[in-house]
Amino acid sequence: MKKLTYLTLSLFSIFTFAQEVSKERVKTVLSTLASDEMKGREIGTQENENAANYIAKLFKENNLEYCTGKSYLVPFDYNGKTVYNVCGIKKGKTDQYLGFSGHFDHIGTSDKSGDNIYNGADDDASGITTLVGIADYFKNKKPEFSMVFMAFNGEEKGMLGSRAISTDKNLDHIYNKMTALFNFEMVATESQWGKNTLYMTGDGFSDLDELFNKNAVNGLKLNPDPYAKQQLFYRSDNVSFVKKKIIAHSFSTVDMTKASHYHHENDDINIVDFDNMTQIINNFGKTLDKLNPKNFTPKYNDQVKL
Ligand SMILES: [Zn+2]
Repeated sequence: MKKLTYLTLSLFSIFTFAQEVSKERVKTVLSTLASDEMKGREIGTQENENAANYIAKLFKENNLEYCTGKSYLVPFDYNGKTVYNVCGIKKGKTDQYLGFSGHFDHIGTSDKSGDNIYNGADDDASGITTLVGIADYFKNKKPEFSMVFMAFNGEEKGMLGSRAISTDKNLDHIYNKMTALFNFEMVATESQWGKNTLYMTGDGFSDLDELFNKNAVNGLKLNPDPYAKQQLFYRSDNVSFVKKKIIAHSFSTVDMTKASHYHHENDDINIVDFDNMTQIINNFGKTLDKLNPKNFTPKYNDQVKL
């Protein structure tokens, strides 16, 4: 009996340990997206499509299902050219969804001599890496909520991808049952509150942060948006879903008063705090594991302009 308990315990610890997303994995995904080969992932380029295909491959590794059709790639038109968002589903114990998103496109290259590639490691390879990390975390688990993972294209040209996919009728079966969307935008650095913390744009518009923090593990914390005047809530991909009355906020760590890498060539992997990102991803996973459609029902107040 003693032996059996020990065996069960050790199997249990191996199993729970196996759920942890490794720093190596985080490094691999982010470094691939932010590599020079991806040439800044500008919408309409071959490298942008390569990035979409790479994300689709990661979704397949996580056994995600297609959101619509026979591919993770969800097409839309950009100046007469077919371009793609990437979308995958993880079925949970209930059919109520939580969404996780970020944008994989960036601003390409410049005409400068020397380093002329906008790698966009923070903006927003870090956000894509975070949602892939959450999919990794739940690979062998069945969460209470179902989950949809969306990598948007064309954010840098005016949130084109999130607008296209949010109005795609083929995904209404998901949107009609969506409790909330977490949009990750620039999460590669340590926030002004220190490690293991992010801020939520438009925190005054819903109680999502309070409900999340109540369940948050290992000190993970969502802070109020310190740049409320900049109206980031209305300036990022989450707004396409706000328009659908879905609870949708963006989550970030970037210090807007100090960041010198924003839309510069030096937004590359050298500025990424991989330890912090790995910690945040795993703590997000563990926190999400505690959420269900009964204890997590965020609502907008009357302050939000829909
Ligand atoms: Zn961005």
